[in-house]
Amino acid sequence: MVKLAEWRGKEIYRRYGIPLPRGTVVRSPDEAAEAVRTKTVPLPCVAKAQVLAGGRGKGGAVRFATTADELRSTVADLLALEFKGEKVREVLVEERLSIEQEFYVAITLDRSRRLPVLIASRQGGVEIESVEESAIDRQWVHPFTGLSGYHRRQVARTLGLDGAPARALAGILDGLWRAFVAEDAELVEINPLARVGESLVALDAKVIIEDDATFRHPQYAAIPDDRTPLEEVAREKGIAFVQLDGNIGVIANGAGLTMATLDVLKEYGGAPGVFLDLGGTDDPKKVTEAFLLMAEARPAAVFLNIFGGVTRCDTVAEGLVAALASVPSDRRFPLVARIRGNNEAEGIALLRQAGIASIPDLREAGRAVVAAASGGRR
Ligand code: GDP
Ligand code: MN
Repeated sequence: MVKLAEWRGKEIYRRYGIPLPRGTVVRSPDEAAEAVRTKTVPLPCVAKAQVLAGGRGKGGAVRFATTADELRSTVADLLALEFKGEKVREVLVEERLSIEQEFYVAITLDRSRRLPVLIASRQGGVEIESVEESAIDRQWVHPFTGLSGYHRRQVARTLGLDGAPARALAGILDGLWRAFVAEDAELVEINPLARVGESLVALDAKVIIEDDATFRHPQYAAIPDDRTPLEEVAREKGIAFVQLDGNIGVIANGAGLTMATLDVLKEYGGAPGVFLDLGGTDDPKKVTEAFLLMAEARPAAVFLNIFGGVTRCDTVAEGLVAALASVPSDRRFPLVARIRGNNEAEGIALLRQAGIASIPDLREAGRAVVAAASGGRR
């Protein structure tokens, strides 16, 4: 999931002919003043913190300014802001329009129907989650046929538009659809889509690009998101690695077993911190890499829970033993292992040689690792 900042989303919308306020993104108060001087941004204007979190309007991250000086200090304020944990590094500065009505339109993927869905509401400018169901119109769109006249007409009816604004709407919906398909988006949202006289303008843009399609759009893959430095390293090595707040490390294979392991730890009062999914890895080198990465996260204890299917228990054990030997002494941690399945006996024997016992029962193993993490004996 590559979530784009508003201004990047708007750059995409612009390419698909969606009307936008005039403006530019700035990274300093000086740049903002310069944008006013060169008339890139007309006054009065709006300054919007470019963070990925929503609710900026309510949260004071969207502000108005009427003079260049006022804009300068507003931009300075926004750049000093930390909004819902995100540092503000960029501010979008745009002309301030007088809004007559705020609508909601979006296209996203309805996974249960396996179809894109076109969503519209007359109640825009607020989070769609807070709009009652009866005020939200949904139409499913077949990817082969795309948007049809009836889709556009129904949205116009939902929004209460006809004449010139309805024609403007049709163009916007087409642009949104083309952007959704061509950019491999999971979501293209305009909230609010503002009515300004006879025209419609996209005041906000939320675009999420499908992760698995970023190879087709390398420009989006290069945008840093909220990965931790270790998660970034893991991604480069092709290891599924997620950092949470707890102190217990989990190494498992397969999403199902990983989730079940987290549940067991929770049940015994443990707090899973890092989890790492070896997937179908059957390469001792990969296991070693994964283990060293885990050591870098400094867990209080680690639970290795492996089911040997495609992955064989002995290769995992081999990688683990090699890894333990190379973990620096200040990065050592208590380890509880549970390996079951293919070549289980060989794996257990290898671990035993390295002084690690495998606890076959999941609950018992879970309890042992929670105790180890809280300083108890293994
Ligand atoms: P969000 O709260 O993070 O979704 O940020 P938005 O970009 O949706 O902006 C929040 C609100 O600011 C909008 O719903 C508008 O009411 C208001 N707003 C944004 N741009 C303008 C503008 O050009 N003119 C006016 N009057 N209001 C604006
Ligand atoms: Mn919005």
